[in-house]
Amino acid sequence: MSKEVVVPGDVVGVAEEYLPGENVEVGNDGKLRAQVIGVIVKDDREHVVSVKPLKSGNLLKINDVVYGKVIAIPNDRVVIVRIIGVDNNGSKAVIKDDITGIIPPSQLFNGKSNSASEILGIGDMIRARVVSKDPPYTLTLRDAQLGVVHAKCPRCGHTLRWKSHGLLQCPNCGAVVRRKVSLAEYWA
Ligand SMILES: [Zn+2]
Repeated sequence: MSKEVVVPGDVVGVAEEYLPGENVEVGNDGKLRAQVIGVIVKDDREHVVSVKPLKSGNLLKINDVVYGKVIAIPNDRVVIVRIIGVDNNGSKAVIKDDITGIIPPSQLFNGKSNSASEILGIGDMIRARVVSKDPPYTLTLRDAQLGVVHAKCPRCGHTLRWKSHGLLQCPNCGAVVRRKVSLAEYWA
Protein backbone atom coordinates (compact mmCIF):
# COMPACT_ATOMS: atom_id res chain seq x y z
CA MET A 1 0.00 0.00 0.00
CA SER A 2 1.28 3.43 -1.00
CA LYS A 3 1.89 6.11 1.64
CA GLU A 4 2.20 8.99 -0.76
CA VAL A 5 0.71 12.29 0.38
CA VAL A 6 -1.32 14.18 -2.22
CA VAL A 7 -3.06 17.54 -2.38
CA PRO A 8 -6.35 18.39 -4.17
CA GLY A 9 -5.88 18.08 -7.92
CA ASP A 10 -3.03 15.60 -7.79
CA VAL A 11 -3.44 12.64 -10.12
CA VAL A 12 -3.82 9.45 -8.10
CA GLY A 13 -4.56 7.06 -10.95
CA VAL A 14 -6.26 6.61 -14.31
CA ALA A 15 -9.82 5.50 -14.96
CA GLU A 16 -8.67 2.46 -16.96
CA GLU A 17 -6.94 1.09 -13.89
CA TYR A 18 -9.00 2.23 -10.93
CA LEU A 19 -12.47 3.23 -9.83
CA PRO A 20 -12.72 6.46 -7.88
CA GLY A 21 -13.10 5.83 -4.17
CA GLU A 22 -13.53 8.27 -1.33
CA ASN A 23 -12.24 11.81 -1.94
CA VAL A 24 -11.33 11.00 -5.54
CA GLU A 25 -12.98 12.44 -8.66
CA VAL A 26 -12.72 11.51 -12.33
CA GLY A 27 -11.75 14.30 -14.71
CA ASN A 28 -12.81 14.63 -18.36
CA ASP A 29 -9.33 13.44 -19.28
CA GLY A 30 -9.94 10.10 -17.57
CA LYS A 31 -7.54 10.89 -14.76
CA LEU A 32 -8.44 10.35 -11.13
CA ARG A 33 -7.66 13.30 -8.90
CA ALA A 34 -7.51 13.80 -5.17
CA GLN A 35 -10.10 16.14 -3.65
CA VAL A 36 -8.44 16.52 -0.24
CA ILE A 37 -4.99 16.55 1.32
CA GLY A 38 -4.31 12.98 2.30
CA VAL A 39 -2.65 9.66 1.71
CA ILE A 40 -3.36 7.52 -1.36
CA VAL A 41 -4.97 4.20 -0.55
CA LYS A 42 -5.01 1.74 -3.47
CA ASP A 43 -7.10 -1.38 -3.26
CA ASP A 44 -5.62 -3.46 -6.07
CA ARG A 45 -8.08 -6.31 -5.61
CA GLU A 46 -11.19 -4.15 -6.02
CA HIS A 47 -9.36 -1.67 -8.28
CA VAL A 48 -10.42 1.29 -6.17
CA VAL A 49 -8.22 4.24 -5.33
CA SER A 50 -9.19 6.60 -2.52
CA VAL A 51 -7.55 9.33 -0.49
CA LYS A 52 -7.56 9.10 3.27
CA PRO A 53 -7.68 12.66 4.64
CA LEU A 54 -4.55 13.64 6.48
CA LYS A 55 -5.16 14.42 10.15
CA SER A 56 -7.71 17.02 9.22
CA GLY A 57 -8.65 17.41 12.87
CA ASN A 58 -5.11 18.36 13.67
CA LEU A 59 -4.36 20.68 10.81
CA LEU A 60 -3.46 24.06 12.21
CA LYS A 61 -5.21 27.31 11.43
CA ILE A 62 -4.01 30.90 11.38
CA ASN A 63 -3.94 32.32 14.91
CA ASP A 64 -3.75 28.91 16.59
CA VAL A 65 -1.50 29.03 19.63
CA VAL A 66 0.92 26.11 19.54
CA TYR A 67 3.61 24.59 21.73
CA GLY A 68 6.81 23.30 20.28
CA LYS A 69 10.41 22.41 20.86
CA VAL A 70 13.23 24.37 19.26
CA ILE A 71 15.22 21.81 17.27
CA ALA A 72 17.58 23.99 15.22
CA ILE A 73 18.61 27.61 14.69
CA PRO A 74 20.41 27.71 11.34
CA ASN A 75 22.73 30.72 11.04
CA ASP A 76 21.38 31.99 14.37
CA ARG A 77 18.49 33.59 12.49
CA VAL A 78 15.76 31.15 11.52
CA VAL A 79 14.25 28.99 14.24
CA ILE A 80 13.00 25.49 13.40
CA VAL A 81 10.37 24.14 15.78
CA ARG A 82 8.80 20.71 16.17
CA ILE A 83 5.19 21.48 17.02
CA ILE A 84 3.93 19.11 19.70
CA GLY A 85 0.77 20.67 21.00
CA VAL A 86 -1.97 23.18 20.33
CA ASP A 87 -3.98 25.33 22.68
CA ASN A 88 -7.63 24.35 22.30
CA ASN A 89 -9.63 27.10 23.99
CA GLY A 90 -7.42 27.01 27.05
CA SER A 91 -6.75 23.28 27.20
CA LYS A 92 -3.65 21.79 25.61
CA ALA A 93 -4.04 19.07 23.02
CA VAL A 94 -1.09 16.92 22.03
CA ILE A 95 -0.22 16.71 18.34
CA LYS A 96 1.13 13.29 17.46
CA ASP A 97 1.95 14.02 13.86
CA ASP A 98 5.32 15.41 12.92
CA ILE A 99 4.56 19.05 12.21
CA THR A 100 7.34 21.56 11.65
CA GLY A 101 7.12 25.26 12.32
CA ILE A 102 9.49 27.98 11.18
CA ILE A 103 10.06 31.33 12.86
CA PRO A 104 11.67 33.78 10.42
CA PRO A 105 13.76 36.66 11.83
CA SER A 106 10.90 39.11 11.22
CA GLN A 107 8.65 37.12 13.59
CA LEU A 108 11.18 36.58 16.34
CA PHE A 109 10.72 39.47 18.71
CA ASN A 110 10.21 42.97 17.46
CA GLY A 111 11.65 42.11 14.07
CA LYS A 112 14.88 43.89 14.99
CA SER A 113 16.65 41.07 16.80
CA ASN A 114 19.66 39.98 14.79
CA SER A 115 20.41 36.89 16.78
CA ALA A 116 17.83 34.22 17.57
CA SER A 117 20.01 32.81 20.35
CA GLU A 118 19.59 36.10 22.25
CA ILE A 119 15.97 35.15 22.95
CA LEU A 120 15.84 31.34 22.89
CA GLY A 121 17.94 28.20 22.68
CA ILE A 122 17.88 24.73 21.17
CA GLY A 123 15.75 22.41 23.31
CA ASP A 124 13.56 25.21 24.68
CA MET A 125 9.82 24.70 24.75
CA ILE A 126 8.04 27.68 23.29
CA ARG A 127 4.52 29.04 22.97
CA ALA A 128 3.98 30.55 19.51
CA ARG A 129 1.20 31.58 17.18
CA VAL A 130 0.55 30.28 13.66
CA VAL A 131 0.63 33.01 10.99
CA SER A 132 0.52 30.94 7.78
CA LYS A 133 -2.26 28.87 6.31
CA ASP A 134 -0.40 25.77 5.18
CA PRO A 135 2.54 23.62 6.30
CA PRO A 136 5.37 24.18 6.88
CA TYR A 137 3.77 26.60 9.30
CA THR A 138 5.24 30.02 9.91
CA LEU A 139 5.12 30.91 13.59
CA THR A 140 5.45 34.20 15.39
CA LEU A 141 6.75 35.10 18.84
CA ARG A 142 5.83 38.78 18.50
CA ASP A 143 3.51 39.04 21.49
CA ALA A 144 4.22 39.23 25.21
CA GLN A 145 2.13 36.10 25.72
CA LEU A 146 4.41 34.19 23.36
CA GLY A 147 7.92 32.94 24.02
CA VAL A 148 9.80 30.36 26.05
CA VAL A 149 7.66 28.31 28.48
CA HIS A 150 10.31 25.84 29.58
CA ALA A 151 14.08 25.68 29.24
CA LYS A 152 17.02 23.75 30.64
CA CYS A 153 20.29 25.23 31.86
CA PRO A 154 22.84 25.22 29.02
CA ARG A 155 25.58 24.70 31.62
CA CYS A 156 24.24 21.93 33.87
CA GLY A 157 20.94 20.77 32.37
CA HIS A 158 18.79 21.69 35.37
CA THR A 159 15.36 23.20 34.67
CA LEU A 160 15.64 26.98 34.61
CA ARG A 161 13.41 29.11 36.81
CA TRP A 162 11.61 32.30 35.88
CA LYS A 163 13.55 35.40 36.92
CA SER A 164 12.00 38.13 34.78
CA HIS A 165 10.32 38.58 31.40
CA GLY A 166 13.76 38.53 29.83
CA LEU A 167 15.76 36.25 32.09
CA LEU A 168 15.77 32.70 33.44
CA GLN A 169 18.00 31.46 36.21
CA CYS A 170 19.37 28.04 37.10
CA PRO A 171 18.61 27.09 40.73
CA ASN A 172 21.46 24.57 40.62
CA CYS A 173 24.48 26.42 39.26
CA GLY A 174 23.21 30.00 39.35
CA ALA A 175 23.64 30.68 35.65
CA VAL A 176 21.46 33.50 34.33
CA VAL A 177 20.24 32.99 30.79
CA ARG A 178 18.66 35.57 28.49
CA ARG A 179 15.33 34.44 27.04
CA LYS A 180 12.12 35.93 25.72
CA VAL A 181 9.90 34.30 28.30
CA SER A 182 6.16 33.95 27.66
CA LEU A 183 4.15 36.14 30.02
CA ALA A 184 1.23 33.73 29.72
CA GLU A 185 2.87 30.75 31.41
CA TYR A 186 6.15 29.20 32.45
CA TRP A 187 6.54 25.54 33.36
CA ALA A 188 9.18 25.25 36.05
ZN1 LIG B 1 22.77 25.25 35.76
